[in-house]
Amino acid sequence: MKNFDVVIIGGGLSGSSTALNLSKKGFSVLIIEKRQEGIFKPCAGGMASSMTKFLPLNIDQAIESKIKNVEFRWESSDEVIADLSGESPFWIVRREKLDKLLIDEAQKFGCELRRPAHVERITRQSKNWTILCNDNFICKSKFLVIADGSQSQWAGYFNLGPRKPKFANTLALRMEGLGNISKDSVRFEFGFIKYGFAWAFPLKESLNIGLGTFINNKLLDDEFLNNKVIKSFGLEDFSFKTVKKKLRIWNGIHKLHGDRVIAVGDAASLCDPFLAEGIRPSLISSFHAAECISQCLSQDGEDLSPYSTNLNNEWGKSMAWGKRIAQVFYRFPKTGYQLGIKRKTAPQRIAQILSGEMNYEDIAKRVIKRLLTRSET
Ligand SMILES: Cc1cc2nc3c(=O)[nH]c(=O)nc-3n(C[C@H](O)[C@H](O)[C@H](O)COP(=O)(O)OP(=O)(O)OC[C@H]3O[C@@H](n4cnc5c(N)ncnc54)[C@H](O)[C@@H]3O)c2cc1C
Repeated sequence: MKNFDVVIIGGGLSGSSTALNLSKKGFSVLIIEKRQEGIFKPCAGGMASSMTKFLPLNIDQAIESKIKNVEFRWESSDEVIADLSGESPFWIVRREKLDKLLIDEAQKFGCELRRPAHVERITRQSKNWTILCNDNFICKSKFLVIADGSQSQWAGYFNLGPRKPKFANTLALRMEGLGNISKDSVRFEFGFIKYGFAWAFPLKESLNIGLGTFINNKLLDDEFLNNKVIKSFGLEDFSFKTVKKKLRIWNGIHKLHGDRVIAVGDAASLCDPFLAEGIRPSLISSFHAAECISQCLSQDGEDLSPYSTNLNNEWGKSMAWGKRIAQVFYRFPKTGYQLGIKRKTAPQRIAQILSGEMNYEDIAKRVIKRLLTRSET
């Protein structure tokens, strides 16, 4: 039976970046991925360029657009434009390419990949996990990383993250052409979708289009997309297949590690509950997971608690505010649009959030400070 330092369940963004970080440090790593390579990923690919600090490779090949403006609209009008020409630009990446780049690079450093295969049983003997796959492949590992995404089967099994995960409903497709979206702009369209919004993010010659609802678990169907949203993006043809996905969103501060096991990315319920940003927490969690596991492997230790502490401090505190903002905004979206997005300083703040220069906690503290100063005068 083969032995590994680390076995990773799931070869999406968080699994592959954890694998790369660990194999670059010289540890033996296996990724088990259930899907074939190259299948369409519904992710719109919006990513803060500042996140490359968590990626130990050049990802230029996966970047399809560099964004200068973020457009917000309420039912196709009442436009607000945020200028993104700050220090950290916002990129649109093709997720299938990005995930492949990471896996290929990890393999160059010796990481093994088993795909398509899924894990059927995990047992523990002393300091080792024994992992059995559906194709009867069996192996041992010292540490386990759960990176099986929003539909994670294993995060709950190991009690990692929220006991009752919360989900946003999403519907996504990729359409040829850019419609009325310019190459260097992304569009957020509010008002058409109850409890959420629609988006159009440009790739080189196509658009990643989607809808998301964030509270009340409102279900989405193609009708929504067909009637209003597609037309608002300047497109007519609706002959493309949509992908519906339940996206696990952040829902409180929780333990993200167990005994020799860690959850990363969507499996750890890290996705932003206001804007569905999941690439950033996937990369942050993968980086910290690799650092913490590598520390344990090098010193024959097993304390993974610094991982949960780091993640909850670096990401969770901001998401607690993101969750509050989402609950108010999506319940009263028209008021939210007028008072939030149409505020004079809002475009700059939103740009700073998307580029990673500011987080929800910073914004909330500013608002509270402003309110306190006003009530004192
Ligand atoms: C419609 C939509 C649009 C989005 N747009 C954006 C965006 O623009 N910007 C942004 O920052 N975030 C966006 N997100 C969020 C982002 O896509 C996710 O947060 C990110 O993909 C999480 O990566 P992951 O590796 O944790 O999960 P995934 O990318 O889902 O990878 C999980 C992997 O695990 C595999 N797997 C599952 N179960 C098993 C198993 N039992 N055994 C083996 N393998 C398994 C799956 O096949 C998959 O490859 C969007 C999400 C959706 C749904």
